Amino acid sequence: MMNEIRPRVTLVGAGPGDPELITLKGVLALNKADVVLYDALIDVSLLNHAPDKALKIFVGKRNGSRQNPQEETNRMCVYYAKKFGHVVRLKGGDPFVFGRGAEELDYIQQFGIKAEVVPGISSTVAVPAAAGIPVTKRGISESYWVITGTTSSGELSRDLLLASQSKATVVLLMGTRKLEEIVRIYEEQGFSDKAIAIIERGTTRDEKIVAGTIADIEKKAQKDQVGAPAIIIIGDVVRESPKLKALYEAVVYENKLN
Ligand code: SAH
Repeated sequence: MMNEIRPRVTLVGAGPGDPELITLKGVLALNKADVVLYDALIDVSLLNHAPDKALKIFVGKRNGSRQNPQEETNRMCVYYAKKFGHVVRLKGGDPFVFGRGAEELDYIQQFGIKAEVVPGISSTVAVPAAAGIPVTKRGISESYWVITGTTSSGELSRDLLLASQSKATVVLLMGTRKLEEIVRIYEEQGFSDKAIAIIERGTTRDEKIVAGTIADIEKKAQKDQVGAPAIIIIGDVVRESPKLKALYEAVVYENKLN
């Protein structure tokens, strides 16, 4: 007799990029997957944690293409769970940080399907950390603020204006195309000297870091061709990175010479 299918979905945070930065709970969920639906920012070696016979299906969007709209992904979670049993929905970073994980969960639960969330290490803290940038540091930054560069209407979040007026470390996601606008907000407040770093594909072999100040970052980003997926970090903590310290000291030195 065939085993009865027990539909369930586990939303698993895959971590920021480095495949070793998934949680043990995430790996154990993958071990028991019948189907894995994975995103664009996932290191495909993570799929090796799923059984050979499990279906592995890419549902990612690249550069905002509409190839797999969210509604389609939602429907696929339900369809495959009903058909095969345990669906692992593998998402970059943490499923609930700008990952639309909450929407997927709402949708799945409407069908009475059991759903669980396995948190992941979010790129919002891990990407700066891997570059030596602490999002908080005693005496330097007492809060950090994670903001989207692309809201549901496509615009830069208005929260950035508030954040730029505070002492918070600002971490911007999906913001590389809005760099000019971001820079202008800080310049208008008179913060041209503020340290800023852009990190593309952090924690992976292809990591690229560009750092400078509000005044020179646009030129540097263009020269080094840094682009999505990237995180932008703004604040004094950027100067604390051992990797970047020499760069900031060199700038001070150059300024003294001129
Ligand atoms: N849920 C994810 C974020 C999803 S939004 C998390 O918690 O990390 C996708 C955005 O995250 C990208 O556009 C980029 O801004 C950022 N991002 C994710 N992984 C990244 C990485 N390895 N390096 C740089 N930015 C990354």
